[in-house]
Amino acid sequence: MSYPPQQAAGGYPPQGQPAGGYPPPQGQPAGGYPPPQGQPAGGYPPPQGQPAGGYPSPQGQPAGQAPSGDGASAPEEVADYRPGDTSGLKTFEGYGNVGFEGGSFLPPPPPPSYDEQQAPSMDFGQAANITAEEARAALLSYVAENCCYGKGAAEQMEMKDINPSNAFHYTLETFCEGRTTARTEIPYLGDAVDGPFNGPPPMPWDITCAPTQQFSDQVYKLPVPHTAEVRMCGMCLGGGFVRCNRCHGVGRDTCSHCSGRGHTVHYRDGEHHHEHCHRCHGTGRDTCGRCHGNGRVPCPHCKGQGRVKAFIEMTITFKNYVTDYILEETAMPDELIRDVSGVEVFNQSMPQLWPITTFPVRQVNDNSVRLVEAAKRAHPTERQLQQRQILRAVPVTEVDYKFKDRASKFWVYGMQRKVHAPDYPQQCCCGCTIL
Ligand SMILES: [Zn+2]
Ligand SMILES: [Zn+2]
Ligand SMILES: [Zn+2]
Repeated sequence: MSYPPQQAAGGYPPQGQPAGGYPPPQGQPAGGYPPPQGQPAGGYPPPQGQPAGGYPSPQGQPAGQAPSGDGASAPEEVADYRPGDTSGLKTFEGYGNVGFEGGSFLPPPPPPSYDEQQAPSMDFGQAANITAEEARAALLSYVAENCCYGKGAAEQMEMKDINPSNAFHYTLETFCEGRTTARTEIPYLGDAVDGPFNGPPPMPWDITCAPTQQFSDQVYKLPVPHTAEVRMCGMCLGGGFVRCNRCHGVGRDTCSHCSGRGHTVHYRDGEHHHEHCHRCHGTGRDTCGRCHGNGRVPCPHCKGQGRVKAFIEMTITFKNYVTDYILEETAMPDELIRDVSGVEVFNQSMPQLWPITTFPVRQVNDNSVRLVEAAKRAHPTERQLQQRQILRAVPVTEVDYKFKDRASKFWVYGMQRKVHAPDYPQQCCCGCTIL
């Protein structure tokens, strides 16, 4: 990922940004999370051998005290905790009432206008005209080279008529960018905070982010500069611990060795013997393997820190929308044209295309206009970055044949000379049906 990209003229940030500015070097989010190794004082986990429970609570909970057996000292752990409370968090111009859920859509700036009179000239070359001789050669070559194609029938069938034609495949790609924001929280590890005191955040569409490649789908997530604030973790209420949800705070769990029976059963000398469980000493209960008997575990939301850093996160989505049109006038299924190669008649890429209007085949022009116009209205919430239109001519040869008094057709299509022969009279030597 090559974020941040090259600075565009007028891009953000301006030159001479003070220390702590945005963007940070080498893709690291502002504020540098996670921090380098080396935990801040009071961090989690405690060194080996030290009893758990030594986390200094900002609420004045006595440190070093073992948690009570009922786990009442810690809030219940919620597996899919999502902070929903935005009260107390600042709002920022240009970002509206952004919450933690979903993502607030950011309407793009108006698109640049284009002068209708400046439509570029379009040269389609000679590729649209594939000769009958070329199509015939493709068919004969196919029959000669494909051993599986029931040579006998191909040789003996009477070719009544060979009709070369061109199918046209027009593809329109529209490459767009969408931006949404949502608040998010990460554990606060004591690192620098790029908060509102650094100034107002840049407007949503002024934040620079370029795709690494055009016409390919990509998603980036960036912290919005100057929106970070540190606050108490809402899940553990600042304590850094939550009640263990395996033992429900008791600290003891069903013995895994005897499955809670207090004994194990062994078959020996033709008889079953019950043996006292040595792990739980017959109680059927054992120290909880998740909390190691503490009844509580470090808060998963703040990683035991008790505090979180809340900030607005921008999700930038680059998406390539593809629409196409196939003109294929034989009885062969049109969609077969999509996946074979042809001759490129026209290939053009611009921020906003003009549709093809001067191609000799009217249906191509009509559908180019239709698709380009539809694309203008299709993505109103996104910024259109680039479009590309490609017109390909794909040779299709329809062959009328007669074999043992039965008349039918097959088709040879694409530069690969694929064959569509649903009625081919002869199965191949290995027993498969020619498709
Ligand atoms: Zn927490
Ligand atoms: Zn437990
Ligand atoms: Zn046991």
